[in-house]
Amino acid sequence: MSNNENLDLMQKVISLCKRRGFIYPSSEIYGGYSAIYDYGPYGVELAQAIKREWWRVMVQYREDILGLDSSIFMHPKIWEASGHVKGFSDPLVECKDCHTRSRADHLLEEIGVFADEKMSEGEINEIFKKNMGKVMCPNCKKSDFSAAKKFNLLVQANLGNFTGDWKKEPSYLRGETCQGIYVNYRNILDSTRVKIPFGIAQIGKAFRNEITARQFIFRTREFEQMEMQYFTHPDKEMDEYEKLRENRWQYYLDLGLQEKNLRWKKHEHLVFYAKEAYDIEYRYPFGFSELEGVHARGNYDLTQHSKYSGKDLTYIDHETGERYIPHIIESSVGVSRIMLAVLCDVYTEEKVDNEVRVMLKLPPNLAPIKIAFSPLLRNRSELVKQAKDLFDRFKYKYMCEYDDNGNIGKRYRRQDEIGTPYCVTVDFDTLEKNSTVTVRDRDTMKQERVKIDDLDNYFNKKFI
Ligand code: ATP
Repeated sequence: MSNNENLDLMQKVISLCKRRGFIYPSSEIYGGYSAIYDYGPYGVELAQAIKREWWRVMVQYREDILGLDSSIFMHPKIWEASGHVKGFSDPLVECKDCHTRSRADHLLEEIGVFADEKMSEGEINEIFKKNMGKVMCPNCKKSDFSAAKKFNLLVQANLGNFTGDWKKEPSYLRGETCQGIYVNYRNILDSTRVKIPFGIAQIGKAFRNEITARQFIFRTREFEQMEMQYFTHPDKEMDEYEKLRENRWQYYLDLGLQEKNLRWKKHEHLVFYAKEAYDIEYRYPFGFSELEGVHARGNYDLTQHSKYSGKDLTYIDHETGERYIPHIIESSVGVSRIMLAVLCDVYTEEKVDNEVRVMLKLPPNLAPIKIAFSPLLRNRSELVKQAKDLFDRFKYKYMCEYDDNGNIGKRYRRQDEIGTPYCVTVDFDTLEKNSTVTVRDRDTMKQERVKIDDLDNYFNKKFI
């Protein structure tokens, strides 16, 4: 695809999401709220399906991984221990011409020059100055910027501070969910029967004061993370890491993403404690970008929390008597990054009878609506009743929709656009003895007649 086609795809996905009730800009009637989005009726179904699939493979299918739901607010010291208060910052530059704010490291990356958020302000500015003529403002394409300033991404709050100056002792909306996992490691060890190696998985909201917000739901200031932290013996860390990498790659293939749109990116510049770090990147319309991080973190996290809390977090192996601080490998991904990847991957346009048919070829397990039930004509009460009866029968098993808007052609088009794999239509034959309905397949548009008595079996096979 050319650059224009790619940008076109992004615009088409954004427009479909708005038009068909997947994703709306937050607070839209007030003019929107930058880099925050709301999920509409179909978006919330898709997000839940994504989370359900993740939870299934991460927790349900694994004896050695347990679930957790820790709170968004935590003791502020946690964010000191983790390094976020001092070091969780991105270098911000402002275009002097149009005042668009950008991340200096991202602008440099675009011209092939490495810089990252861990560098000091001075280091970044040094590199930025050298490349001043080459980096471009993404908005006005000029090349005149303010000096880079480090900007902390933690979102501050005044929780529990009723009288004092809360800015001096702020609380924080969590910047990542995994800190809740680290600080519950001891609880889980003491209250369940797990032994090392084991993992803790959690899905929950995280908040970051992101500087740039130009890529729809790819980078938002409020987002949901799905994170799994796996606690290992120091000598086993890298073996487990390789297994985790394999699993995570397979996970995206099983989810239905096209392999040509995925790749591994190795981190060349590791933080001092990391053993190894890879990202799985997806080919978004704006280029390959991070979908998920799979990192080997050594024993940094538990060591820090042990130091700051004063609690002993060593693990005792009761069989060998060995004591050690577990090492951690992690898988970390944003729900909306998967959602955007899935939407871009399945967005399809097809020419049918000189018209463009738009559809989301979502795998059945991700489709917001699994089956739509319709009467052929909405002014015939006997057809309407039968279609509603069928909806009432199947709604307990699948997320279904009763749809009698417009004519049947319009209904199919709308259901194609929201990715519904099957549409069931009740017509006059249905009312006969041995009644049958037509089942239309989204992808092939083929219709087959199925006896009502066989419908349950029919769908059992389709939604395995
Ligand atoms: P980036 O380099 O894109 O800012 P990061 O390296 O800071 O991301 P991590 O801190 O490793 O990201 O977060 C783990 C995962 O959480 C990411 O791989 C991504 O899927 C998701 N994520 C991070 N920030 C955001 C965000 N602002 N919006 C949506 N998802 C996010």
